[in-house]
This record gives sequence, C-alpha cells and structure tokens, in this order.
Amino acid sequence: MDHLCHRAYSPCIMPGQRYTSDNQPQGEPLMFCGQCGKEISERALSCPACGAPTSNVSVPNYLVQAILVTICCCLPFGIPAIVYASQVNSKLAAGDIAGANSSSKSAKMWCWIALGGWLLAVVLYLVIFLIFGAALPFAATL
Ligand SMILES: [Zn+2]
Repeated sequence: MDHLCHRAYSPCIMPGQRYTSDNQPQGEPLMFCGQCGKEISERALSCPACGAPTSNVSVPNYLVQAILVTICCCLPFGIPAIVYASQVNSKLAAGDIAGANSSSKSAKMWCWIALGGWLLAVVLYLVIFLIFGAALPFAATL
C-alpha cells in the first residue's frame, strides 16, 4: 500500500505541513476538467465535480504485452489477456477507475500465464529435442 499516497484525492500532506485553501495559489497548480470544465487540482485523480478521471490516472492496460504473448507465445491464454487489456481503457473512459485497475490486474495475470505456458512448452520441446537429438547420431551409426 505504498502507493496509497499517490492514489489519494488530495496531494500528500507531510507532517507539520498545512494544507488549506489559503495557500492554494502557491502550492496547488490548477487545471480544467476535460469533462465539465471545472477548475480542479492538477494532482487530482478524478474531477470532484463530475467524477471524470484526469490524465493523472495511469492504469497500465498491458495491451502490447497481451498482443505479444498471444502472437509469440500462447494463443488460448493470450486472448483473455487481450480482452482484459481492452477493458482497461473503456472502463477508464467511463470513469470506472476501480474496474480499470482490476481489468489491468487480470490482463497482467493472463500475460504471465501465457508466458509461463509458453516457457513450459519451450522447455518440453528442448527436452524432447535433446533426447531425440542425442539418440539420432547413435541411430545413424546402426
Ligand atoms: Zn469534471
């Protein structure tokens, strides 16, 4: 939970530091909400007025990894990774940050499953290849 601070609505308040509205012009850079145009904190994760996520929300969608593992590794495990990865951006766009985070986690998990499945297949292939490769010269001498 070390990222809790960054995910919080308001910026981190150090011990002894005062965070009130009267020091806002110096300490709080402002920007406009892309959804409703309200002035909000540049560090806010979502607009307090309409709930739209700001550009500060970065949920990795793992789409590139999902496509890579699908093409290079394992198609059956790569497809759920792509499905979850594509859900991340659409959930973010809908303002569902928690849903986007859980889809992101699922996409990452399926990427690892696909990669693990592929590594297992490679190891099995190498073992079989080594066994037959070692047997082949012997068979040729017969
Ligand atoms: Zn807004």
